[in-house]
Amino acid sequence: MKQELEKCGILEENVSLKKLNTYRIDTKTKYLLHPRTVEEVQRFFRLVQEKNLSYFVLGNGSNVVLSDTTYPGVIVKLDQFKSITYHDEQVVAGAGVMINFLSRDILAHGLSGLEWASGIPGTVGGCVFGNAEAYKVSTFDVLKEVMVVTPDSEILSISSDDLEYGYRTSSFKTHPGCIILSATFQLKKGNKEESFQLIKERFLRRASSQPLDYPSAGSVFRNPSSSLASWQLISELQLKGKRINDAMVSVKHANFIINLGNATGKDIRSLIQLIHDEVERVYHIDLILEQEFKDW
Ligand SMILES: Cc1cc2nc3c(=O)[nH]c(=O)nc-3n(C[C@H](O)[C@H](O)[C@H](O)COP(=O)(O)OP(=O)(O)OC[C@H]3O[C@@H](n4cnc5c(N)ncnc54)[C@H](O)[C@@H]3O)c2cc1C
Repeated sequence: MKQELEKCGILEENVSLKKLNTYRIDTKTKYLLHPRTVEEVQRFFRLVQEKNLSYFVLGNGSNVVLSDTTYPGVIVKLDQFKSITYHDEQVVAGAGVMINFLSRDILAHGLSGLEWASGIPGTVGGCVFGNAEAYKVSTFDVLKEVMVVTPDSEILSISSDDLEYGYRTSSFKTHPGCIILSATFQLKKGNKEESFQLIKERFLRRASSQPLDYPSAGSVFRNPSSSLASWQLISELQLKGKRINDAMVSVKHANFIINLGNATGKDIRSLIQLIHDEVERVYHIDLILEQEFKDW
């Protein structure tokens, strides 16, 4: 198996994932594969079909709660897909490009349209998959086209008009399987200084309201359709500071769980469950998770 996987990219074996997820959950994977070319991704999918391999793609690991045991299959990282090319008012970015980096890079090209994404620590692939959103602008609002490899090893360029999306979801999330290689964003001409100012203001806003100095994966729950936001419901229940071992409900932002040092995936899941059940018991609201449990 190892030799065949080596033909699909740079291969690492028995790798710690601690630095590859923003909760800093200390877990491992049997194989970590970094494909370098589209052909290697296609070859990987042929191997997946031939050998019935289990796999999943990890972006920056900023929206996932990983399991504590060693992942027995192959985790694919698109971190070799980092090209950024400009065509007039469009930018094509590889799936491994960080969206917060891209939101600043476009400014140097006199373009605007990704300021909203400047505080999101995710990759282009992860943001398309989950339709990342901030300040009421979502990835699909500026997405024009996505290039993917399907599980049948087919390369497809899909117009965003042919994809479904919604609040923190997309066709890729509802029908998982494809590997996103790159995304084309439709931007517009902008004013560098104004955009930079907006990014700075928003950074300061996040820094004052979010526990950015601790490992987390952003907001835990979506806001329900009730009049109170998730953080308000959780605060009302006096759950700020609630701990399960090193997993703690942030005192700064009640809809964040932070890792105080050695929180496991199980600690974080248990705390999420506890919050969910308390909100359901008291308010009869079934909070929906914004983060994704990666079970294996
Ligand atoms: C401090 C903080 C603030 C945040 N603020 C926001 C915010 O304002 N708005 C927001 O929407 N989110 C926010 N998030 C959450 C997170 O950053 C986003 O959801 C982001 O889009 C996740 O991208 P990722 O690359 O980390 O994806 P990951 O967490 O690595 O993966 C998420 C999912 O996408 C899939 N995936 C990733 N790349 C690919 C690919 N190339 N092909 C196919 N599938 C893929 C994975 O398999 C997984 O199912 C925040 C997180 C943190 C830690």
